[in-house]
Amino acid sequence: MGMLNLIIANVSKKPATRLYPFEIRAPFKEFKGRIIFDPANCIYCGICQKKCPPDAIKVTKAEKTWELNVFRCIMCTECVGGCPKDCITISNERPKTGAKEYIKNVAPATPK
Ligand code: SF4
Ligand code: SF4
Repeated sequence: MGMLNLIIANVSKKPATRLYPFEIRAPFKEFKGRIIFDPANCIYCGICQKKCPPDAIKVTKAEKTWELNVFRCIMCTECVGGCPKDCITISNERPKTGAKEYIKNVAPATPK
């Protein structure tokens, strides 16, 4: 009798799992998904590189490049808080699969 009740209860319930990848759960608001770099105000000071514990960021002032190795990043957000120009933010979206994000600024930086 107990088993029958269990079967009836489970048949009337919604599934406990999702049909991933067709049904993807929206990320939590505070989820640390991926680092976003906006080069517009970057002065290539290298503070983010110095603050990054696993050396995931490489900044080259002369060539105006900013590079992030997503495989090294541990999402500590030290670079986000440490950037004096608010160039780095964190998104709650999951990162796309890919080996490396490389961003090279094409316009000269305009310090404010
Ligand atoms: S992202 Fe911010 S901390 Fe990093 S080099 Fe640019 S201005 Fe400096
Ligand atoms: S979040 Fe942390 S580990 Fe990732 S790039 Fe920024 S400082 Fe480095």
